[in-house]
Amino acid sequence: MVVHVSPEEAISPYKALKKAFENFNLEAFKDKTVAIKLHMGERGNRTHLHPSYAAALVKILQEFNCKPFLTDTTTLYIGSRLTGLGYLKTATENGFSPATVGAPIIIADGLYGEETIKIESGEVEVKDASMGRALYEAEGIIVLSHVKGHDLTGFAGAIKNVGMGFASRSFKRYMHKVIEPIIAHPERCVGCGICAKSCPGKAITIVSGKPKIDLEKCIGCKVCTIKCPNQVMEVSEKLVEEFNVRLGECAAVILKALNKKPILYVNVAEKITKHCDCVSEPAKLVAEDSGIYVSEDPVAIDTASFKDVEKNLTKTKNLKEVNDVDPWLHLKTAEKFGIGKTSYTIKTI
Ligand code: SF4
Ligand code: SF4
Repeated sequence: MVVHVSPEEAISPYKALKKAFENFNLEAFKDKTVAIKLHMGERGNRTHLHPSYAAALVKILQEFNCKPFLTDTTTLYIGSRLTGLGYLKTATENGFSPATVGAPIIIADGLYGEETIKIESGEVEVKDASMGRALYEAEGIIVLSHVKGHDLTGFAGAIKNVGMGFASRSFKRYMHKVIEPIIAHPERCVGCGICAKSCPGKAITIVSGKPKIDLEKCIGCKVCTIKCPNQVMEVSEKLVEEFNVRLGECAAVILKALNKKPILYVNVAEKITKHCDCVSEPAKLVAEDSGIYVSEDPVAIDTASFKDVEKNLTKTKNLKEVNDVDPWLHLKTAEKFGIGKTSYTIKTI
């Protein structure tokens, strides 16, 4: 079941979540150390999740005698959240601190991404399956996701938050490694250097006025294809599809490794942007707010949020058009591996 709180009813995150949680049995979380997994936004991003949602969850969990903490993993790309300390500084700048949310913040994979744990991949064929240790060791987890578009997945909610967000750097790299940009239209290049300046992997150099990509350094983010004003770089549709299959598979591997713990999903569909919260600049909105969703099923909650976002798009007819990526693929892959269903019942409160 998915419980939906409309935007009108979601003005107070605490009241909205408290009411939504009445539909679920929270006894399993009682007295436990609970990780609230969320993306606290890149430096300069202005559309990430508001800290009041994390504070509301902390308060509710403390009423159940839980010991909550906020957590996320460091990034693969070179940015403000590359290290644990950098992440904590960025989180504070973005309004997340023990003083504002009422709980500690622990970076799940440590100072330099070294605090990870290997996990079994079972019947799913993936490489380097491992995740942030603090997420693995927490006794319960609330996956708090900001619903938005994404240039590689088309849609980002709970499955993206788990599949990429819980993963160690090596597991992230396994997913991203499939994305290899090519210089498809060299004749269009004007040598402006924007691609090199914006490459988060520092993989592009300008040689004799033309870009050169070092695929060893490339982290497969696709940013160069977006930033180049003349569409010189391309990543093939097939590779993007393969990335999405890997993302769904890796989310399944992670959730299967955690299958004995209580996990609840909260999706917040407000300030819905074209790209993800890793973008370090103010972003334009692509849809009206849809409210808050709560579920025990990560695929169902994403499907419900996805469908409402599509109804509320302001400039395009569907989410696929927003980033030219099939937003269903990672969700359907996750469903295929049994971690949730795209069919569900919904209750609006
Ligand atoms: S951003 Fe595009 S046009 Fe500018 S140097 Fe890079 S490839 Fe050439
Ligand atoms: S995909 Fe492009 S922007 Fe991203 S790391 Fe590779 S070369 Fe750099």
